[in-house]
Amino acid sequence: MCGVFGIWRHPEAANLSYLGLHALQHRGQESAGVVSNDRGILHAVRAMGQVRKIFTRDALAQLPGDIAIGHVRYTTSGGSLVKNIQPLWAQSRLGSIAVAHNGNLVDEAELRAKLEEQGAIFSSHSDTEVILQLMARSRADDFVAQLVDALGQVRGAYSLVLTTEDKLIAVRDPHGFRPLVLGRLSGYGDPTGPAGLAANPRAGGWVVASETAAFDLLEAQRVRDIEPGELLVIDEHGLTSHRLPRAPRRLCVFEHVYFARPDSLLDGASVYEARIAMGEQLAQEHPVPADAVVPVPDSGVVAALGYARHSGIPFEMGLIRNHYVGRTFIEPSDSIRHFGVRLKLNAVPHLLRDKRVVVVDDSLVRGTTSRKIVRLIRHAGAREVHVRISSPPVNGSCFYGIDTPTRAELAASTQSVEQICSAIEADSLGYLSAPGLRRAVGADDHKSFCDACFTGDYPVPIAREPSPRQLRLIEV
Ligand code: AMP
Repeated sequence: MCGVFGIWRHPEAANLSYLGLHALQHRGQESAGVVSNDRGILHAVRAMGQVRKIFTRDALAQLPGDIAIGHVRYTTSGGSLVKNIQPLWAQSRLGSIAVAHNGNLVDEAELRAKLEEQGAIFSSHSDTEVILQLMARSRADDFVAQLVDALGQVRGAYSLVLTTEDKLIAVRDPHGFRPLVLGRLSGYGDPTGPAGLAANPRAGGWVVASETAAFDLLEAQRVRDIEPGELLVIDEHGLTSHRLPRAPRRLCVFEHVYFARPDSLLDGASVYEARIAMGEQLAQEHPVPADAVVPVPDSGVVAALGYARHSGIPFEMGLIRNHYVGRTFIEPSDSIRHFGVRLKLNAVPHLLRDKRVVVVDDSLVRGTTSRKIVRLIRHAGAREVHVRISSPPVNGSCFYGIDTPTRAELAASTQSVEQICSAIEADSLGYLSAPGLRRAVGADDHKSFCDACFTGDYPVPIAREPSPRQLRLIEV
């Protein structure tokens, strides 16, 4: 998982990219980068670590120009390499190009092998570089046509933002697995004000981002989503939309469950409202007599509100999160992960003592987090601990951009709900059903989602599950 950002024609392009990446930081904390474009000359600042650490005043001063793209990269267990930091930047016979990618190509290994056979030399493990290499081999004589050519040869998930010397390009794969949204900075570029600006696509101030939360920070207006299968070119002529082959719409449902910020809109739908609906539906499917509904902060908070609202059980912040430690999901060993949970969360004993507690989290993957949390709550004096998960059991790995463990490590791939309940030492365990999740996100025939990690229904077929070594090399 990663976050991408792009901005077209604004004198503060690099500063606004920095702010936009700040709002997308939850989508990746391993590394970040911005490439700015100053009249066709590209400048880059890319480094390991978080946005606020990388983009000092001096770093931002190295990014002149009024076009920029940016990227935040998700932490994985093995691939934290400097050479994988995005945006990637290349020079070809057509000039300079830089690209930021959220998603994952499923046929990266095959394509890479084929390209290497033809003489390609790769400088990263990134599947994004495969796209650049395919572009370089295209016979087309402009970057847009090369990109269409390259994307016709890859399969999988991609939301891309690119800058060439004179264009900003935003693309979403035909299924639209990952979000990407178009916005406009108001009050810039046109003396006739916002109305004049709206009527003048050439005036600049265009922004694209993985999530609308980035626009809120910049006081930009959301214009619309980049459509699945749309390749949008922004240049001196205004906006031009190209179409990739059509495919059924399949936004990743886990974006609504966990990844996206609750203050974002995904394909126009509020993540907050979806999570409330998940909690309400969960309370309907798995009621239990209890004294308090306690969220696992932050990921379980909104669903817990929904659960409390539907059940009438009081909502209590019985667990407090320390925000100064990172996410605990993907760490090298179980012992460190165990330590991570205790670092991250603490119980509030007087809220929990002698209570029957319903604890709500968004997902259960390996089960490590839930077990620690149940112990923490019991240790604080709770009489009963009932775990409720606002998504179905995760029993398949994601190959479209979320770094899930291999199938064998997923609790639900080898154990029944009863077995997981006893492994996490809970008094009861209830998961939201797959139809319940679909209802909560408003899925219908026209708007359906990828829920492969819950249902095994993979919209882009996977030839085989990559071995752990290959998995580590999958860069998103
Ligand atoms: P686990 O301990 O493996 O069951 O992990 C479940 C916890 O990790 C839940 O609290 C989720 O909020 C969080 N989580 C789920 N998926 C991910 C992911 N892909 N990356 C980071 N955290 C995650």
